[in-house]
Amino acid sequence: MLNVAFVGLGAIGRPMAKRIAAGGFPLTVWNRTAERAVSFAREAGARHAKTLSDAANGADVVITCLSTSSDVEQVLDSGLYEAMRRGSTLLDCTSGDPATSRLIAGRLAAKHAHFIDAPVSGGVRGAEEGTLTVMCGGDAEDLARVREVIGTFGKKIVHCGPVGAGDAVKAMNQALLALTIWGTGEALVALAKSGVSAHLALEVINASSGRSNASMNLFPERVLTRAFPRTFRLALLDKDARIAAQIARDERVPAPLTQLSAALCTLARKELGQEADHVEAVQVIERWAGASIR
Ligand code: NDP
Repeated sequence: MLNVAFVGLGAIGRPMAKRIAAGGFPLTVWNRTAERAVSFAREAGARHAKTLSDAANGADVVITCLSTSSDVEQVLDSGLYEAMRRGSTLLDCTSGDPATSRLIAGRLAAKHAHFIDAPVSGGVRGAEEGTLTVMCGGDAEDLARVREVIGTFGKKIVHCGPVGAGDAVKAMNQALLALTIWGTGEALVALAKSGVSAHLALEVINASSGRSNASMNLFPERVLTRAFPRTFRLALLDKDARIAAQIARDERVPAPLTQLSAALCTLARKELGQEADHVEAVQVIERWAGASIR
C-alpha cells in the first residue's frame, strides 16, 4: 500500500486524513500547530512527524491541504521539497491558483517527482462521509497511481486536464457559490421587507427555477436557523473568488459577475473578519437593508 503523508489538518484536512487512515493506508501527519497533529495521530492511529522533512521521508504520496498555494510553497521550502523522493507525488488538495501550481509542478519535475492539483468540494460533511468531488489537474498516469488514496475521501474524481485545470474549475465553482449566496440573500431580504417570509419564499424558489445549493441547503440549514456554523471561512471563499476573477482577466474574458463576486467577498471579509463563515456574508446585506432573513 502507498505510504501517505498529510500536511494541513484544518477544518477539511482533518476529516480527509481520517478517511485515509480508516482506508488502511500507512499515514504520517504534520500540522503547523503541532498539537493538532499530535491529537489527530493519537485518535486515528497515524504517525506524527515533528518536521516536514520527516513527514515526506519515505512517503509515496504527500498530500497538502493548506489555505493558499503560497502556503504550499512555504511548506515546500521548509523541508518538504528536499525530502520528497524521486517518483513520489505531491497531491495538493488546497484550493489553489493555477499559475502557482504550474510553478510547483515544474520544480518537482526537476527532481523527478510528480504534482497533481486536486481541490475538493462538498464541505466538511462530505469529507467526513467520503463523498467529496475531487477535481484534478496533471498527467493521467500520475493520477492513476494515487487514485485509490483519493478514493478514500472522494466519490466523484474528475481529471480536468493538465496541471492547474483542477484549480481553475474549483475557482469558478466558488465564484458561482459566492454569487448564489449573495443573490439568494438579496432576494430574501427584499421579500422579507415586502412582507413575504423567507420560509415561504424558499419553499417556492426550491420548487422553481431560481433554486441552487445555497437556496436548497445553505439557507434552510444555516440562515433560517440563525445557526451560521463555521465550517468554511469567508476569507477562503474570498481567496477563491479572486482566483476566479484573475483567471477571467488572464484569459481576457469579460466577466463582470465573476469580478463582482470577488469584490463582494473581499468587502464582506473586511466587514466580518478572518474567522467568519462564508454564509455569514448575508449578514452584510441584512445590515445594509436593516432587515433580517427569517
Ligand atoms: P483552515 O483554515 O481550517 O485550515 C488551514 C490549514 O492550513 C491548517 O492546518 C493550517 O495550520 C494550515 N496552514 C495555513 N497556512 C500555513 C502555512 N503557511 N504553513 C503551514 N500550514 C499552514 O482551512 P480549511 O481546512 O477549511 O481549508 C483548507 C483548503 O481547503 C483551503 O484551500 C480551502 O479553500 C479548501 N476547502 C475548504 C472547505 C471547507 O469546507 N472548509 C471545502 C472545500 C475546500 P494551523 O492549524 O497551524 O493553522
